[in-house]
Amino acid sequence: MAVETLTFGCRLNTVESETMRGHAAGAPHDLVIVNTCAVTAEAGRQARKAIRKLARERPNAEIVVTGCGAQVETADYAAMPEVARLVGNAAKGRAETWAPTATARDRVGIDDIMAVRHAAPSRVVAIAGHTRAFVPVQNGCDHRCTFCVIPFGRGNSRSVAVPDVVDQVRRIVDAGGCEVVLTGVDLTAYGRDLGTVSSLGRLVQAILAGVPALPRLRLSSIDSIEVDDALMKVIAGEARLMPHFHLSLQAGDDLVLKRMKRRHARADAIRFCADIRSRRAGVVFGADLIAGFPTETEAQFARSLDLVAECGLTHLHVFPYSPRPGTPAARMPMVPGDVVRERAARLRAAGAAALDAHLAGEVGQRHRVLTERGGIGRTEAFTPVRLEPDAPAGVFRDVTIVGHDGRALIAG
Ligand code: SF4
Repeated sequence: MAVETLTFGCRLNTVESETMRGHAAGAPHDLVIVNTCAVTAEAGRQARKAIRKLARERPNAEIVVTGCGAQVETADYAAMPEVARLVGNAAKGRAETWAPTATARDRVGIDDIMAVRHAAPSRVVAIAGHTRAFVPVQNGCDHRCTFCVIPFGRGNSRSVAVPDVVDQVRRIVDAGGCEVVLTGVDLTAYGRDLGTVSSLGRLVQAILAGVPALPRLRLSSIDSIEVDDALMKVIAGEARLMPHFHLSLQAGDDLVLKRMKRRHARADAIRFCADIRSRRAGVVFGADLIAGFPTETEAQFARSLDLVAECGLTHLHVFPYSPRPGTPAARMPMVPGDVVRERAARLRAAGAAALDAHLAGEVGQRHRVLTERGGIGRTEAFTPVRLEPDAPAGVFRDVTIVGHDGRALIAG
């Protein structure tokens, strides 16, 4: 019988769903694994809506819920009659969790995620529908930002050993992969738990040295204040490390950053971007920004807005503040909902204007793009480029940019 996975949230969840699909391939019945996210209340709402729809459409399917939603909002999912079983984030990656024989399990199997100390290497070399391969190198988080539930869903920070990561990247390249994205929860915390002199920068160095045939290496979100010296060197000197960095900035005002329990100040973020630009041409920055964090005044919000220009951000992920269960921020005085939404809209508008300016600046340039499905390619700086609709996926093309449509470049 076919096993289906429904994945919400981050790249880590995407890879983990592929792993679970492999483990559960022998299931003798209709099995649907819903891999949930808990970052926002909306993510939970969408997952529960999808579960109810699934149950209506496939009344005989066994619906198993896992992921950060199952780990953090256990009672909400356990209360759903549509849900046959709940599996925690620690157990979901284990083959025995999905063995068809072990049917006599607790309906709610949520382990203590804080007890997990090991990060298992991924064996997923490719995912259907994805041109680039995601390689999880780190999981969990030791920080406790006041708005965030992720540490309670993913546990404490733990890293995959360097040789295992290099082997995995080599397997992907041997299987024809052209681009690898290193992913995790708090990626820049990589290596701290390994007891050896390791860091994200040293890992990147080991990958590029150990897999010379790898054309492109990308990083998922990084915390600028945690970037190590080795990584700064690689960014400056390694053309195969792509010049696109997505920063977990969250806000532009120092008091708000303090109330979020972030580790950087506004000036650190601005300095980091300027420093990187002075070391590497053609760098593009993206960032996560929260609109309407509790107690945020109009003046404090204005400092998030003008951070877009001060850091030269191009790709914004804007999150209207969403109170998460049990977090300190959820107990702070709230900004009214309509103000939160209005601020999020202004931030998105600032992001769209910055993207438009970036795209306009690319017209006339030559770029090497890696093609994806649907007639889209990506430049080294991750900017989308429209190609002919039937362009084959997974190949490199040198193109001239002749225009843009406000969201993507257009190749001539
Ligand atoms: S660094 Fe902060 S925002 Fe990021 S996962 Fe950890 S607690 Fe959450």
